[in-house]
Amino acid sequence: MIGVNKIDKKYSLALHGGAGAVAGRDYAVVEDHLRGLIEASQANLAAGASALDVVEYAVAEMESSGLYVAGRGSAPNTAGYVELDASIMDGATREAGAVAAIVGVVSPIRVARRIMQVTPHVMLAGNGALAFAREQGFEEVSDPDTYYVLPVGVYESEIHEQKHGTVGAVALDLSGGFAAATSTGGTFGKLAGRVGDSPMIGAGTWADDDIAISCTGTGEHIIRAGGAISIACKVKAGATPEVAIDEMLAEVKRLGGDGGIIAVTRDGNTVMTYNSEGMKRASVSSSEAVTVATFGA
Ligand code: ASP
Repeated sequence: MIGVNKIDKKYSLALHGGAGAVAGRDYAVVEDHLRGLIEASQANLAAGASALDVVEYAVAEMESSGLYVAGRGSAPNTAGYVELDASIMDGATREAGAVAAIVGVVSPIRVARRIMQVTPHVMLAGNGALAFAREQGFEEVSDPDTYYVLPVGVYESEIHEQKHGTVGAVALDLSGGFAAATSTGGTFGKLAGRVGDSPMIGAGTWADDDIAISCTGTGEHIIRAGGAISIACKVKAGATPEVAIDEMLAEVKRLGGDGGIIAVTRDGNTVMTYNSEGMKRASVSSSEAVTVATFGA
C-alpha cells in the first residue's frame, strides 16, 4: 500500500507572465525571473506545500517584481490610474476569492485569498475591495507616481507594442489538490472600471478535482468564448485537456482576440498553449525538468 501511494505522489506547476509578448523583443530578464520563481515554487511543492499556497506565492512574487502587467508592472487606465483584478481558486474545496478594479494595494492576489477565507463572498470590487483590504491590514501603495514601473507618460508608446499582460499560476500538489491564481493590470487603454476575465471565476481562473487553469489574453474575448470553465467541462465530458484548450483559444481567435492558457491536469501533466505572438511561461513537474520560454512551441 505504501508503495502504491509513493508512486501516486506527484506534483506539477506552470506559470505564465502573460500572452502579450511581442515577437522580436528580448525577454531574457523575465525568463530569468520565471526560472528562479518556478524553482523556488517547485521546492515548496516538493516539500509538501499546498497548491493553494504555492500559486498565491508565485503570483504575489510576480505582482511585486514589476516585470509583468500585474501589480507593480501594471499600466494606468485611460483616466490615468491603475486598477487591478485578481482571483484564486482551490480545486478541492471549490472555494474562490477575487478582487476587481481595486486601486492602491500592493498584492491583489493576497487580498483575493483573504476574501475567500474570511468572507462569505467570492468577489469584492472597487472601493469595497479597498476598504476590505485596509481593514485587513494589507500593504498599500504609498506613492503611485513612483511605485508603478510604467508611468502615464510611457503608456502611449507601449500601447502599440504590447496590448495586454497578466500573470498566472496553476499547481497540483502532493496531496492531489489543484489550485489556480491569476492577477492583472488588464488591457492597455482600458476604461476606468473595466473588468476583464482574470478576476472572474470560470473565465480567467478555474480549479476543480481534475484540472487547474489560468488564462491570459484579450479578456473580453475570453469571457465571450466561455473561458476556463468551458475547458473544464469538456475535460469532465472526456475531451483531452489539450483539445479542450485548443478549442477555447480558437474561439477567442474567431471572436477577434488572442491569448494563452496554462493548465495542470489529473495525470500530472502541464499544458501551456497560446495563439498570440508569444507567452512568457514556465513549467515543472515531479517527472519533468523546468522549462522556460516566451516564443516557440
Ligand atoms: N486577460 C487580461 C485582461 O483582459 C489581460 C491579459 O491577460 O493579457 O484583463
